[in-house]
Amino acid sequence: MSTTMKTIFDKSQNGRRGIKLPPLDVSVDAKIKSNYLRDEKARLPQVSEFDVVRHFTNLSNKNMSIDKNFYPLGSCTMKYNPKIAERIANLDGFLNLHPHVVTNNFNEDVQGSLETIDELEKSLCEVTGMSAFTTTPQAGAHGEMLGIMMIDKYHKSKGEKRKYIIVPDSSHGTNPATASMVGYEVITIKSDENGAIDFEAFKQKMNHEVAAVMLTVPNTLGMYNKRIKDLCDVAHEHGALMYYDGANMNAIMGVARPGDIGFDVIHINVHKTFATPHGGGGPGSGPVGVNDKLKPFLPDLGIKKENDSYAFTTGGVNSIGKISPFFGNYGISLRAITYMTVLGSNGMKNASTKAVLNANYLRVRLKDYFDVPYDGMCMHECVLSAKTLAKKGVSAMDIAKYLLDFGLHSPTVYFPLIVKEAIMIEPTETENKETIDYFCDTMINAVKLADENPEEFQHYPKTLGVCRPDDTRAIKELDVKFQH
Ligand SMILES: *Cc1c(COP(=O)(O)O)cnc(C)c1O
Repeated sequence: MSTTMKTIFDKSQNGRRGIKLPPLDVSVDAKIKSNYLRDEKARLPQVSEFDVVRHFTNLSNKNMSIDKNFYPLGSCTMKYNPKIAERIANLDGFLNLHPHVVTNNFNEDVQGSLETIDELEKSLCEVTGMSAFTTTPQAGAHGEMLGIMMIDKYHKSKGEKRKYIIVPDSSHGTNPATASMVGYEVITIKSDENGAIDFEAFKQKMNHEVAAVMLTVPNTLGMYNKRIKDLCDVAHEHGALMYYDGANMNAIMGVARPGDIGFDVIHINVHKTFATPHGGGGPGSGPVGVNDKLKPFLPDLGIKKENDSYAFTTGGVNSIGKISPFFGNYGISLRAITYMTVLGSNGMKNASTKAVLNANYLRVRLKDYFDVPYDGMCMHECVLSAKTLAKKGVSAMDIAKYLLDFGLHSPTVYFPLIVKEAIMIEPTETENKETIDYFCDTMINAVKLADENPEEFQHYPKTLGVCRPDDTRAIKELDVKFQH
């Protein structure tokens, strides 16, 4: 780096008290052992800046992304990620805070950051009706594990040994996986004709050896369980705790609160409900909220306010200990609190109701063309099935590939597992009627094509950079080398 550039870099550090970066060391070579250094100069392509910029811009344009395409990915919710949330999370003072700076209690350089975490925890309590929150878990599944570990400790602290965790057969795979990772046996209950956990079967399986019941509300079929309060009562009568998988919170935020319904612990996938684009498997954050029963078991790192200053607290004697390094995925916490602040309580309620309205509009437009496994009002997503089409040789996967050619990202397919040829669609609250109509028209065109010429589906997508790979061959002869 030339001296001039280095000077500019140094200047950009202005005004950031407490963050002293070491001087830039430009002689990296000097620190690498000579046997690791190359003998000849690397053969790097000699291209102009424009060539590089165009290469990457063209590549990125080939991507299907929420900035370019409707993205109705049910369950995983690729929804509204306001640009303001990105800008806030990228502010220098937040972004470049060294994690070790914050180990100093009452350190004045981190007060703003600690305040945002405190605000997020309080806002999540407000939205969910729980009495305390921790933002440290780094994904929904991580939050589940924390929740079940706290439940485990709760029962053990009462001298009780419990063996089982109940989940419905529609549950997300992480629920039974979490239960068994924490050492429980999983009891799976089948769904009834309305897509809800079968109440009679549930009552039969309930006993004093059940530690917890894990439910997603609304569930992964997009249905709200009308007997949810009864389920909580039956579990509590047997001393079991109720775990709320909050991945679908975007259907009920501002409308109903899990804490009021009777749940004892909840995780929220803030990267699904409260901003943060999370395509491609990350990043995530899964804050966990508890009621008073579980407060003593919260993990080690919390925040307290004393004399107008924030500081860290460690957990009490019953804390389950540390769950993640530092303070979890702080950048995502920032996006979440920004989203909640921008929308406010009315805005969040509005978002939920619109999400439900859009999903039902879409369901009604498509219900005569596809099989509908569970009929009736859905919440924020609707599940269809391509079972009848599959008999003609057109599968849910074929429909998904067809949509790509029309600029539409595929909905979630083959989940939930209990629905054959499942197509799970979540339009989200921010899409307008024209976009949803275009999606529905394209789906209906696919059904017509399936009647007229089902073989044609084998060729879709026809216009994309990568067309239809041979899935089986791709798995057996994995070849990941770069090709022009
Ligand atoms: C996404 C999801 C999870 C897992 O959350 P991650 O953040 O991906 O770990 C759990 N349950 C449901 C219902 C989900 O949709």
